[in-house]
Amino acid sequence: MASDRVNLLGLPRPELEAFVAERLGAKPFRARQLMKWIYRRGAADFAAMSDLAKDFRAQLEAVAKISVPEIVTEQVSADGTRKWMLRMDEVQGIETVYIPEPDRGTLCISSQVGCAMDCSFCATAQQGFNRNLSVAEIVGQVWLAQRELGDAPGEGRKITNIVLMGMGEPLANYRNVVPAMRIFLDDLGYDLSRRRVTLSTSGLVPQIYKLAEECNVALAVSLHAPNDELRNELVPINRIHPIDELLKACWHYLDVQNGRSITFEYVMLDGINDRPEHARQLARLLRGRAAKLNLIPFNVFPGTRYKRSSAAAILLFRDVLNDHGIIATIRRTRGDDIDAACGQLAGKVTDRTLVRLGKKLVSSESSAVIR
Ligand code: SAH
Repeated sequence: MASDRVNLLGLPRPELEAFVAERLGAKPFRARQLMKWIYRRGAADFAAMSDLAKDFRAQLEAVAKISVPEIVTEQVSADGTRKWMLRMDEVQGIETVYIPEPDRGTLCISSQVGCAMDCSFCATAQQGFNRNLSVAEIVGQVWLAQRELGDAPGEGRKITNIVLMGMGEPLANYRNVVPAMRIFLDDLGYDLSRRRVTLSTSGLVPQIYKLAEECNVALAVSLHAPNDELRNELVPINRIHPIDELLKACWHYLDVQNGRSITFEYVMLDGINDRPEHARQLARLLRGRAAKLNLIPFNVFPGTRYKRSSAAAILLFRDVLNDHGIIATIRRTRGDDIDAACGQLAGKVTDRTLVRLGKKLVSSESSAVIR
């Protein structure tokens, strides 16, 4: 039956090899050929795979498929940023954003339908959480963007970087995010170097330790506040994993991975976390460490109570950090005319969370709700 066909998109290489051996009695190199077709050439149709024997293609057709999410809408910003809404079911959608720059092209992908982390300044949080994306749905975002952009791995490629900075908390969907990242790194997959795949997390400490052992990618951490009191308000997971615990996990990650540095994201909220004293506190936390700060001007969305810090406040904040020996850069806002900027991705989410982290959860026993 067609519905029993296995989706090959996102199958890790060893599993694809096992599949072709066990289900089709074929040699492992067939799996490698399939990967090249799926990821390098963006094939979705076995019939088009001209270097595979006709019989083998027919066999594949019977037991396998390459199935990608459907694009509902595409929007293109005045600055060239593109945003796609992808259908997850009848009523729900997630968003993927492509950000072209002169020296690179970054694809920002989602990991969940909605998010349960409940950060007070994020549009996705307002929508609540529905479910994790599957490996195929995560990898499918790259597959689709590559098709839409007419791109392919190799010289002159358009997607040079992938960031898990869209909707969702990637480490809360660890089980599917890690295999997807392996496909991004695999030379028969999207063939990106580990510095060009960035996972951004709000700070799920146990999963950072796990990731350190299992997958080598760049790490970005949504810090947003220099002390626990403020971070508890802005990023409620901080009540379970406070700043010192989070930073310890970060330095451990760098040690184990032999990474260059960790990027800390810091959203600039007018009158909340943008005073020079906050910058000095941050500098004390990060001094002497392999850390970079990325200051993100707050992007407004309907219903938010926050305002963006003034340009002068952001520049001063950066200068105070730089004066204290901390590398800080200001993230240029991209795609805000199509609500594609950081924190503006809302998609369409039917909230299924019983307990929202920010409002009710305080004890660590309850952390199960975000798994
Ligand atoms: N859940 C992960 C991945 C999201 S990455 C994480 O928290 O890291 C998106 C980045 O944009 C995060 O640093 C997030 O905190 C930040 N962000 C969220 N809302 C924002 C807003 N309204 N304006 C600017 N940045 C925002």
